Amino acid sequence: MPNEFACTQEGCTYMIRSDDEGEIIHMAREHAENKHGMSITDKDVRKGMAHAA
Ligand SMILES: [Zn+2]
Repeated sequence: MPNEFACTQEGCTYMIRSDDEGEIIHMAREHAENKHGMSITDKDVRKGMAHAA
C-alpha cells in the first residue's frame, strides 16, 4: 500500500508518494531542510504521512 506525505508549510505543494516508507522519510526530511531550513525527525514525517487510497 503506498504511503504519501504532503508538506504542511503554508503555500508549499510538495508531495511524495511511495511504497517505501524509508524513502518518503528521507525525501521529506531533505525537502524540509532544503526548502524551509527546517530540521524534522522521522517521527514528524510519520505524523504527516497518510495511506493513499
Ligand atoms: Zn515544503
